[in-house]
Amino acid sequence: MRPDLLTPLFASAESLKGVGATLARPLEKLGLRRIRDFAYHLPDRFVHRRQLADLTEGGVGEQVLIQLTPLEHRGGGSPRTPFRVLCEDAKGSTCALVYFGRNAGWAKKQLPLGEARWIAGRLDQFGQSLQIVHPDHVSAEGALGQVVEPIYPLSEGLTQGRLGALVGQALTHLVDLPEWIEPGLMAKMGWPDWRSSLTAAHKDENKLARDRLAYDELLANSLALMLVRASNRRAAGQSLRGDGRLRAKLNLPFALTGAQQRSVREIEGDLAQSAPMLRLLQGDVGSGKTVVALNALLIAVEAGAQGALLAPTEILARQHFETLRRMATPVGVNIALFTGRDKGKVRESILMGLMDGSIDIVVGTHAIFQDGVQYKNLGLAVIDEQHRFGVGQRLMLAQKGKRTPHCLAMTATPIPRTLTLAQYGEMDVSRLDELPPGRQAIDTRVLAAERFGDVVAALERHFATGQQAYWVCPMVRDSEVVDLAAAETRFAELADRFGDAVVLVHGQLKPEEKDAAMERFASGGAKLLVATTVIEVGVDVPNATLMVIEQAERFGLAQLHQLRGRVGRGSEKSTCLLLRGETLSEVARERLALMRETQDGFRLAEEDLRLRGGGELLGTRQSGDTPFRVASLDQITRLLPVAHDDARLLMERDGGLVGPRGEAARVLLYLFERDWGVQLLRGG
Ligand code: ADP
Ligand code: MG
Repeated sequence: MRPDLLTPLFASAESLKGVGATLARPLEKLGLRRIRDFAYHLPDRFVHRRQLADLTEGGVGEQVLIQLTPLEHRGGGSPRTPFRVLCEDAKGSTCALVYFGRNAGWAKKQLPLGEARWIAGRLDQFGQSLQIVHPDHVSAEGALGQVVEPIYPLSEGLTQGRLGALVGQALTHLVDLPEWIEPGLMAKMGWPDWRSSLTAAHKDENKLARDRLAYDELLANSLALMLVRASNRRAAGQSLRGDGRLRAKLNLPFALTGAQQRSVREIEGDLAQSAPMLRLLQGDVGSGKTVVALNALLIAVEAGAQGALLAPTEILARQHFETLRRMATPVGVNIALFTGRDKGKVRESILMGLMDGSIDIVVGTHAIFQDGVQYKNLGLAVIDEQHRFGVGQRLMLAQKGKRTPHCLAMTATPIPRTLTLAQYGEMDVSRLDELPPGRQAIDTRVLAAERFGDVVAALERHFATGQQAYWVCPMVRDSEVVDLAAAETRFAELADRFGDAVVLVHGQLKPEEKDAAMERFASGGAKLLVATTVIEVGVDVPNATLMVIEQAERFGLAQLHQLRGRVGRGSEKSTCLLLRGETLSEVARERLALMRETQDGFRLAEEDLRLRGGGELLGTRQSGDTPFRVASLDQITRLLPVAHDDARLLMERDGGLVGPRGEAARVLLYLFERDWGVQLLRGG
């Protein structure tokens, strides 16, 4: 139960004055549902205005605040001619306030002739005269409070003024909360208390306040992950010792790399313990995680238990199923595929098989852990592309059966070390830091988008050699419809040229259609797969050796790396063509250059962090792929290690979060909705 103390902060947005049906959508888009969300909706930046005594003091292009008196209303009769209000300052110099569109009536009322007004806006020059286009503020009263103005992230249907007012209202609902930060640290950092920090963070660039708020979030996350970890240690699991009889029958066309062997040994050691394993297998795309997973699953089966492999998408589940089945044919274990799509008799029979133990290994999407799915004895769950699953899903898994299953999470996302800590807490990590032998470097080139014709010609030559290719269309946030239209247009164009050798896959397709298309490509029936980023993870077609990525500058480094990892999987040389638009930002240019230069996923991840972290004056939240909303990448890098140590101390000293600081820490967990951590605390 959430502490009563927090009730006002979790009151719904509708309790704010002025929030009704029309704002529901724009607010929802920003994730603003409760009072706390508004309070934590921190400004991206601030506009600083200079208060001028008269116009001669101001510079062109400067954000100013000045008292002006309207002399004349002009124009505005038609939508074409702007409405102009000619004004004079205290010394008689003039400046026009300009309004385009249908704002004349409103401006007229705000700016009656002969009455002085405070105007905030950007001073511009137009011909010989000065003007301010669409002033940000017009007010009859004093000017204070507008000198520094917060600029908030907006969504369509909201204005700065509107949102700022709502945030202001929300801040009046703040209450004092007990301090959860260690007093020594507070003093050393010079951080204000929670409530003052939130208020201050909306007023100006207050680094201390912003850091404190970020720290809170990081601390909450570290604590919650540690609670999961601790509860996992206490949980009753089962010791699984394989005798090797099934693994001995595996007849692989290759030998395991040193890194693969080491990882299998580490996993084997964990499985033999009765405390449930919580291990992350981190390995770049193509490093061969699947076969490690298969070994782990076979150990579980040798020990008389069942294994499950969870994939993030249907396509991947299917592919894993095929791969495992192929590799494990000589072994003679019963492997089943189970997805949300299986209905009726098929579903019944799989459910039966899981319950009576006749299915040894099940591969599927999250359906395999849903309510109503019972296992005879689930010993190991492998989660592929772990970053797509939340901790909540991992917990759901822990509740399958009397004994908590061992858990192996796999990820190809080469997250930097600092972020590993944030994402996975104290999981044990096995790293596949060695690629299987014989891999060739992918020849990566950056081309201007205008060379489309050349690219198509290259495709033609490529197909003539019997090899296949991918064509990736970008997903631009917020406009799935437009993106899809672009992908479909491109598909049509390419299909015009190459006929039915082209298939299209995107997120809006029905699962059956998607599978059918993937199937045609994987079996070699189709030569070119045009896709949005749905092919990002896992797909394995070794004969596909050319990848074209359109508008490559729109992707992050990590994402480009993931995409490129789809090629370079076979013995043939692979190529990746990055098509870029005309105008590139400095960062985009650097990103593409890095892609050409290196194929080391960890290096790219570090650089990605650096490139995105740079220039983050205020700590703008661009950390889309971290579990944080408040903390920026820069803050994560600086403060996460501190938060992590503090969380550990708190756990060790006040194990179970007792005492006043422990109580305060519970409040913190609820505030950041890491309350699954608290629930574990009580359960254990
Ligand atoms: P990941 O899931 O880590 O991206 P996969 O498990 O899909 O990588 O493996 C990529 C490819 O490498 C597969 O075709 C797989 O059969 C092959 N492979 C895996 N391990 C080895 C190895 N030790 N030697 C040669 N090829 C390997
Ligand atoms: Mg994989």
